[in-house]
Amino acid sequence: MPNVTIDGRTVEASAGQTVLEAARDAGITVPTLCYHPDLSVAGSCRLCLVQVEHAPALAAACALPISEGMVVHTETPALADHRRRVLEMLLRHYSDAGVADAAEESEFQRWVRHYGARPPEDAATSGRAVDSDPNPFVWVDLNKCILCTRCVRACAEVQGRFVWGVGHRGEHTSIIAGVDTTMLDARCESCGACAAYCPTGALADKMSIGRGKPDKVVATICGYCGVGCGLNVHVKNGAIVRVASDAAAPVNGMSLCVKGRYGYDFVHHPDRLTKPRIRRYLVEGRAKQTATTPERAWVEVGWDSALDLVAKKLAEIKHAAGPDAIGVLASAKCTNEENYLMQKFARQALGTHNVDHCARLCHSSTVAGLTMAFGSGAMSNCMEDIASAARAMLLIGSNVTEQHPVFGAMIRQAVLRRGLQLVVADPRKIDITEFAALHVRQMPGTDVALINGLMHVILQNNWQDQKFIDERCEGYAEFRAAVGRYTPERVAAITGVSAGDLQKAAAILARNKPMAVVWAMGITQHTSGVRNVLSLANLQMLLGNLGVRGGGVNPLRGQNNVQGACDMGALPNVFPGYQTVTDPAITAKFDADWALEPGVDAADGTPHLALSDTPGRTVTEMVEAFGAGAMKALYILGEDPAMTEPDVNHVRRCLQTGEFLVLQEIFPSETAAFADVLLPGAAFAEKAGTFTNTERRVQLVRPAIDPPGEACADWAITAELARRVLAHEGRQPVGPFAAWDYRDPSHIMEEIAALTPSYAGISHARLERGDNLHWPVPHAGHPGTPVLHVGEFPCGRGRFHAVEHAPPAEIPDADYPFVLTTGRVLYHWHGGELTRRAKGLTEQCPHAQVELNPADAAKLALDGHNTVRVRSRRGEMTAEALVTERVPQGIVFGNFHFPGAQNVNNLTIGALDPLAKIPEYKACAVALEAVTASPRSSSPPS
Ligand code: SF4
Repeated sequence: MPNVTIDGRTVEASAGQTVLEAARDAGITVPTLCYHPDLSVAGSCRLCLVQVEHAPALAAACALPISEGMVVHTETPALADHRRRVLEMLLRHYSDAGVADAAEESEFQRWVRHYGARPPEDAATSGRAVDSDPNPFVWVDLNKCILCTRCVRACAEVQGRFVWGVGHRGEHTSIIAGVDTTMLDARCESCGACAAYCPTGALADKMSIGRGKPDKVVATICGYCGVGCGLNVHVKNGAIVRVASDAAAPVNGMSLCVKGRYGYDFVHHPDRLTKPRIRRYLVEGRAKQTATTPERAWVEVGWDSALDLVAKKLAEIKHAAGPDAIGVLASAKCTNEENYLMQKFARQALGTHNVDHCARLCHSSTVAGLTMAFGSGAMSNCMEDIASAARAMLLIGSNVTEQHPVFGAMIRQAVLRRGLQLVVADPRKIDITEFAALHVRQMPGTDVALINGLMHVILQNNWQDQKFIDERCEGYAEFRAAVGRYTPERVAAITGVSAGDLQKAAAILARNKPMAVVWAMGITQHTSGVRNVLSLANLQMLLGNLGVRGGGVNPLRGQNNVQGACDMGALPNVFPGYQTVTDPAITAKFDADWALEPGVDAADGTPHLALSDTPGRTVTEMVEAFGAGAMKALYILGEDPAMTEPDVNHVRRCLQTGEFLVLQEIFPSETAAFADVLLPGAAFAEKAGTFTNTERRVQLVRPAIDPPGEACADWAITAELARRVLAHEGRQPVGPFAAWDYRDPSHIMEEIAALTPSYAGISHARLERGDNLHWPVPHAGHPGTPVLHVGEFPCGRGRFHAVEHAPPAEIPDADYPFVLTTGRVLYHWHGGELTRRAKGLTEQCPHAQVELNPADAAKLALDGHNTVRVRSRRGEMTAEALVTERVPQGIVFGNFHFPGAQNVNNLTIGALDPLAKIPEYKACAVALEAVTASPRSSSPPS
């Protein structure tokens, strides 16, 4: 470790550090503008020049390596004078029109003030527009640009997008988007990294311009996807005026995507529910009305009336039809604490295992498959270790740059910076394929055949990790025999992937170790979802890529807290921590912990039953049973089945005919149309508690603002409702964790830790201290477990499974000749309840679109400017036709975001994976026809 002297202090620096890094580590401030620790060194602004004794000239600290015995002065009168002159030179071409975002003074302004720099009298004003780019999110005012190029480097090196560059010559030199076009035309993803790194405000957050300085800044977690990015919410007068990077965020640092940074305005949308609402027929004690009559109108009521009515109704239904006549849907948008309470409410207060949530629809096959293979259903590794340590990656069924954008950017960085060998397996030519060493385009629903084919080639070439297989796995012989039947030629016939590409992919994946497998819903949302996951588990056991950094099995969870909702037991077959309800000892333990007295109904002596050891109904089964009358009540927290379930016309009929539906939500969603009671909850920025991201990292969520009107924290609503249900039944909590008198979410986490072995060492206090905790955390002194399966699997030996290909439930025929596959686009989120109310996001993609191949479009006489009707056996939708090579012939891709006639779930099929009960969103048969002619073809000749 070299010793250097900086400003008279002996500093022990690390080998390879620059003077700037050594100084900053020692707490010595050296002014910079073009430098940023995340970016390559430009060394161009000259503000960080320092004086090194015996050196012939001043040197840029950002680019000067330290050496033993070096004596450095960072602040002398001469240096201050030099810096003032540098700043005045920059001020010569800088003009501030007085419009600014909500941020504090910019870095540039700070140094100008610090060194007393003044604009020269002959300062030029460029006279450019102060808002010169139509991007709805990024404000461009090149009058403030000092050409530090931080934006250029951030876009290239952090985001991997290369939108910004430097153009023109001499005094006309300027940053330009693309070939001097607009940002969006230069394929900008509007992540805002350029604005976040800009030190002058030349690039800024457009939504915050003119909103003033915040009263407070609150660090919390993004409410959209499972990446779990940390962000800073800027608040003024009780409203969010900006969302900015939190450089200290452990997952993402400065990176955010367009939804996380700019998709927050839904929080203040006028549609927010602000008071409880009850249908008039309930207020008047009349029979349910399903037709649109005055009796069905909403009546706003106080919390007491609403909760009393719900508690009474649920208790009556329980008494009359039994606990299993009621179902509860928890929410992946809500905190761990809220999900814990929802499943406790179902199991303890209502007495049923009928609790589930949207994980059923996205990764239930992952949980089932990985549990069968390893005894644990979660992502085994961390995003950072995959991005920094994997030498190869199989990305299959994951449009990662649009659905998990910050992780997508990390993968791009890994390819660009250190040569990660990326194999993408996806029917569509998604954006990340530009960074792939190889893209294979399997037909939807043929993943098992593809993966078996890869493993066939690996075994043929003897590339398997035999030591790992022998020492840690079982079931190898049967598996090997099954894979032996998937010759490259057979696989090519099933999947459409050539034998040559299969060989190439196998070589890349097998010969670069460690290799990480990453997937999302392209793998899971199939009738073969569990078998797909088992195949990927087989592949990683075959190659010995488990229990190591940079390897593993890595499902990317969709919503912000879908991992946590599963961990908390918001599933019909497990208590918190995946403790199975089929184990009578575990069920008896929870019965005792949550015990209530008396055990008989106070009114008629009917016994309150203990929890059964039979799993409850899944979400799809609950909706079906509700429609058929087998279940009498549904309590839904923050889910929108009328929008997001497959074959949604059928689902809407079920919801319409059901007896009693309570919805706890922030907006009147599509499901609200079928609800009898609406309870207003809190949005992400109003929540306290924890979210668990896709990599099992538990993170603190802090409230930045209050919920609007009388809307209330969801945990408080559930706790109060549970108290009222118990009071209605005259039951008292007697078990050690039976009561519902929580102080705050940290108190709930104490109960979670006491009852959930994998969360036993997690507390809000530890998280507040900054501990990075990936579960399992078995005790309060445990550092967490970033990599699973080191040394052994939870089930002992990893289990190979012999897995066979089977086609999707519905395949194309003469009437429905196309395969429909579904997904999202960057600017959309899930069912759109939030992002349809985020103005800028909606403007980017305001209609449902379907992508189809040019050859198919030609056959249908479509030219890319038509509205089309897409029909399946279950319904139809209309959408804008996007003719593109992104999809191969025979496949149509539809995004799901819009309700009514634009809902792609009018078409999707309710066929389920037999084990996980996940629907096959990714493959069904459809037909297409134009409903409006192209404006081009119909316009009169000029
Ligand atoms: Fe939010 Fe996900 Fe975007 Fe991160 S990547 S900002 S968590 S939506």
